[in-house]
Amino acid sequence: MRTIGEILLRNANWWPERDAFVLGDQRRTYRDLYLRGARLASALEKRGVVRQDRIGMVSTNSIEHFEFFAAADIAGFIAVPLSFRAAPPELEYLVVDSGTSILFFEKTLEHLADSVRQSVKTVRHFVCVGGEAPDWAEDFETFLASGDEEGPVSRSEAGDVAYLYYTSGTTGKPKGVPWSHRAMTICASTSSNHWHTSMLQISPAFHSAGRTPSLGCYWRGGKTVLNSSFDPTALLDAVQSERIVSIFLVPTMLIQLLDHPRIDEYDLSSLRMIMLGGARISTSLLKRAIARVGEIFYLGYGSTEAGAISILPLNEVSLDGDEAALHRLSSVGHFEAETDGIILDEAGNPCAVGVVGEVCIYNCYLFDRYWNNDIATIEAFHGNAFRTGDLGYMDEQGYIFLVDRKKDMVITGGENVYSREVEEAIDLHSDVRESAVIGKPDPYWGEIVLAAVVRNPGTNLTEEELVAFVRTRIAAYKCPRQVVFVDELPRQVTGKTDKLALRSLYAGSSGMA
Ligand code: AMP
Repeated sequence: MRTIGEILLRNANWWPERDAFVLGDQRRTYRDLYLRGARLASALEKRGVVRQDRIGMVSTNSIEHFEFFAAADIAGFIAVPLSFRAAPPELEYLVVDSGTSILFFEKTLEHLADSVRQSVKTVRHFVCVGGEAPDWAEDFETFLASGDEEGPVSRSEAGDVAYLYYTSGTTGKPKGVPWSHRAMTICASTSSNHWHTSMLQISPAFHSAGRTPSLGCYWRGGKTVLNSSFDPTALLDAVQSERIVSIFLVPTMLIQLLDHPRIDEYDLSSLRMIMLGGARISTSLLKRAIARVGEIFYLGYGSTEAGAISILPLNEVSLDGDEAALHRLSSVGHFEAETDGIILDEAGNPCAVGVVGEVCIYNCYLFDRYWNNDIATIEAFHGNAFRTGDLGYMDEQGYIFLVDRKKDMVITGGENVYSREVEEAIDLHSDVRESAVIGKPDPYWGEIVLAAVVRNPGTNLTEEELVAFVRTRIAAYKCPRQVVFVDELPRQVTGKTDKLALRSLYAGSSGMA
């Protein structure tokens, strides 16, 4: 199987009646997904779109979003899933950078599409999904009906770019990461070991974590149940009614789920795997989750550029084990099949066991360039290894421990402080729900360690108490010199703590770009 389009056709032949996607009352079988995808591709060709042209979609998770992917998968267009959280100028930047010529948009996001229409003249057509189209756009179903039933003229090739994903831009402007069909099909077959016969997808389709799992599910003819946004009750309802086997969650979602007042009333017995990832997860949260739901957790480490990098099945590290086993709960496991990596020091030499350096990896589905950005491409590679920008070390059994983002380290009085280490120490306090640590510019220290902390409801921990607690666990120079208590941490749409926003709120800087 070389292209995603071929997987879709295969599934339409093998399992025509099986559900491919479900969203509320809407269902799409594999046969319908293929037929509608092919017809949509034909409609696009009739508007002049040819192989490797970019087509964009700005929408929350919807069945049409995956039909849009299917059209690109079949005909070899490049699908550009765009962030619905983007501000108008950001979206305009993404549309121009990718060279998107046709833009699909969800009705509720009409204002975003309209701003693109007014400022980017190279977009030729607008297609409105899920509501009445404005007079400058076509309605999705009418647009689709204009295509031929036999589908498009051209077909995707293995080396074609399938998707152009944009990084979240925490370290500057978002960069386009092209994923080929070949890379995606390898990734799909590898991850099909984790993504089972029915999975629940909450991650937005514009993030790579919103596409790879559903492709893993395609591989085995599985069903992807979509939630258009994160709502703990909707999630529990879907798990129960659709007998969900696997889910991908980011840590904040897990916290909200565990806090759900009626979680015990739900039948969650179908669940076999909860994949956690995308951001730091505290050991205390993991222990709480295992006690509540069982040893069905996997920790995943990955990125837009490199896909799945490493994985830790939590049942591999026993809770009753020795100190070392317990410590491994805070690791991100071993490199995935097909992936190998190395920890490099500043000079580009391999680090010894236990020594912190940059995690660099190579795998057979690794991206090879950023879209239209040669300088960023050169900076991203050390030989043929991708520099993840993550600082970490490996222990003597090959477990990988992440300590920080390279650009997230606080340098205070000339000492390097990894914010993750401080966050882990803070999170051990029973009154703390979650925390995030940043560097705040300081005339004397260069930077000081500032912690933003969310307290558990009903507690009133003070700054002095927290610092005294942390001081017993980590060196004094790493302890926060300032603590701000907040109701919630700012988030990116993927659930990661938005440290850029935190910095502009509390550290008086516009970021680290
Ligand atoms: P993105 O490209 O948006 O998926 O972001 C990738 C980055 O997210 C990685 O380089 C890491 O910094 C971070 N990340 C992903 N998974 C984890 C994890 N399990 N633990 C800590 N950080 C993670």
